[in-house]
Amino acid sequence: MRGLATVPSYVVMQPTTLCNLDCAYCYLPFRAADRRMPVPVAEAVAASVNRWAAAGRFSVVWHGGEPLAAGREHLAALLAPFGPEVEHHVQTNATLIDDAWCAFFAEHGVRVSVSVDGPRERNGDRVTRAGRPAYDRILRGVAALRRHGLPFSALAVVSYPEPGLATELYDYFLDLGCDVLGINIEETEGVNTRDNSHDARAVTAFWAELVAAWRREPRIHLREVEWSLRYAGAVLEGTADGLLPRRLDPIPTVGHDGSVTVLSPELAGFTDVRYGDFSSGNVLVTPLAEILAGAERTPWVGEFLAGVEACRASCPYFGFCGGGHAANRYFELGRFDGTETAHCRNSKIHLLEGVLEHARDHQSPAA
Ligand code: SF4
Repeated sequence: MRGLATVPSYVVMQPTTLCNLDCAYCYLPFRAADRRMPVPVAEAVAASVNRWAAAGRFSVVWHGGEPLAAGREHLAALLAPFGPEVEHHVQTNATLIDDAWCAFFAEHGVRVSVSVDGPRERNGDRVTRAGRPAYDRILRGVAALRRHGLPFSALAVVSYPEPGLATELYDYFLDLGCDVLGINIEETEGVNTRDNSHDARAVTAFWAELVAAWRREPRIHLREVEWSLRYAGAVLEGTADGLLPRRLDPIPTVGHDGSVTVLSPELAGFTDVRYGDFSSGNVLVTPLAEILAGAERTPWVGEFLAGVEACRASCPYFGFCGGGHAANRYFELGRFDGTETAHCRNSKIHLLEGVLEHARDHQSPAA
């Protein structure tokens, strides 16, 4: 795996910067402002995306802010330029989902991923702009999805891994009815400066406990555990070298104003005296395909690729991780060519260790 691919597997779009919630761990800098994406931005992105989608599976992920805060009419206008082969996804806090939104999702074939951190008492960081708990509103949205028979994924943020939490979360999400679950250990990035360093034992034990809970009743696709098991299986079969893509997926994020930031949506909207605004171009000026063809020339991207090579040379987990995320390096280390971060310890190194610990603890005596 060397350098950036010129064709991504998906594009992240920001229909509005606004979010109707004010979660304590949020990284977004402009979430109180409603800066909406004009339709010509979507038209410009669709010109490249429709060609890519004609050649194979391709997704557009509507992220935010809170994407549903853009309103149904505006979101429909932004979806309109994309061809029928394009898969649409929304990452939403679910608080605005009602019957009308469910009809919209069904009509446009939009797949929904809901952010919820587990049972009510685990959602203390999720509050409205008035500072009130958002949990009941989140659950009302989930209930609407279930009423309409719409499948959904869930994404949970874990701020403090502790014994018992993984089992509690897994059982909660089994009841909630999601078919895919992703777990993010809270990250220090963007405007969230809360410390994300944890005791290594606690994080490893959290992941090991999550594998045990999943193996009891493996009804949900558990994103992190499935990645780890795929990697462990490939190592045993001697095929792990083929798991990483030949080139890094650039994962372009198209901001509300058409600016394109590759590799890490979390960098969009920030500026730095050394790196400028992190963008590699604007789709209102240059076609997205052309921006991506030249993205490696963006100064910070070159520095990041040097960091990936440093990881390859120094980290035994590189084959699993592939070199980590640009935003975590920048917000934790202040530059892109460093290697290990608290994020990669929490979400790659201790994840793999936890899965292996579970396997060691449960291997048969004859093995
Ligand atoms: S685990 Fe961390 S240090 Fe290792 S390859 Fe990934 S980002 Fe680099």
